Amino acid sequence: MKRILVTGGAGFIGSHLCEKLLNDGNDVIALDNFFTGSKKNIVHLLDNHFFELVRHDVTMPYFAEIDEIYNLACPASPVHYQYNPIKTVKTSVLGAINMLGLAKRVNAKIFQASTSEVYGDPEIHPQPESYWGNVNPLGPRSCYDEGKRVAETLFMNYNFQNKVRIKIARIFNTYGPNMHPNDGRVVSNFIVQALQNKDITVYGDGSQTRSFQYVDDLVAGIISLMNNTDEDFTGPVNIGNPGEFTILELAEKVIKLTNSKSKIIYMPLPQDDPMQRKPDITLAKEKLNWEPKVNLEDGLMKTIEYFDRIIK
Ligand code: NAD
Ligand code: UDP
Repeated sequence: MKRILVTGGAGFIGSHLCEKLLNDGNDVIALDNFFTGSKKNIVHLLDNHFFELVRHDVTMPYFAEIDEIYNLACPASPVHYQYNPIKTVKTSVLGAINMLGLAKRVNAKIFQASTSEVYGDPEIHPQPESYWGNVNPLGPRSCYDEGKRVAETLFMNYNFQNKVRIKIARIFNTYGPNMHPNDGRVVSNFIVQALQNKDITVYGDGSQTRSFQYVDDLVAGIISLMNNTDEDFTGPVNIGNPGEFTILELAEKVIKLTNSKSKIIYMPLPQDDPMQRKPDITLAKEKLNWEPKVNLEDGLMKTIEYFDRIIK
């Protein structure tokens, strides 16, 4: 039985990860400050004697005897990470320093939830891990993008200098149950709007693209990366679904799948909004024998069922 710390464990992805790690027979500590996460996401795990919940902020040091750390703590929706940009940088950078320090002290293996945002508004399509990215270091997304880029730098240097065992995944847009109804990201916004027959808010002309991955595929990918025993294979490795859709296509699909009466309305495109995004997953296929299994319609249906249940 491994003792595993999951920071951001009460969040959307963290809650799914905790559940899977417990089902696989591990002893799990979820650490969260509940900024965007919620106890509701993990309340069903609280009766399990091998699960602990700790209210803590990763910008402050934390100590526990553990074998592995999954570092997920960080708001992920543009609305939430831009609410307090200084705090977002601190969460990524101080959080990485504190968790890497802990990993070094107790000789734990540590995973970092990095992001496709390190590629910024990419000039290369699809994006391979070797691409350095096109990030505006001063814009409204920079607190998140640059924070995650520094976190990758810290991980690589703790590995190089202190031999800490690290794994870095660059996660592409992920959706599924346990997203907060007010999360602000596109899939949850569109589904909640459609279920309430409210206007669907497409930003810009909707021609920008994203590649959407269902959360179960992501969790399988990051666990298989963590369990990969080749210590030289640190990543970063892209974990995402290469199926690419325009935002307008997504809006139309959600309206169809929910039988909604909603109309599409157009709103201004936020500054520095990336125009296209699609992962090159050759490396994940080759090294982890991993690829996503859930197509967009099936994943959307499961997510629609979830929101239908919780917003009634
Ligand atoms: P989320 O907002 O649902 O979860 C983040 C969790 O971290 C929340 O529970 C929040 O309360 C917690 N948190 C935030 N700041 C904290 C702090 N200072 N101390 C302790 N806990 C803190 O978002 P998510 O989609 O579950 O994202 C999880 C991780 O995956 C994030 O690091 C995010 O950057 C990364 N990621 C997500 C996506 C995606 O599409 N969902 C894509 C790329 C990367
Ligand atoms: N978006 C949109 N309507 C919304 C929310 C988002 O059109 O209600 C767009 C947004 O401008 C972006 C895409 O959907 O082009 C994905 O946005 P999200 O915030 O989900 O993630 P990110 O931009 O970080 O990939």
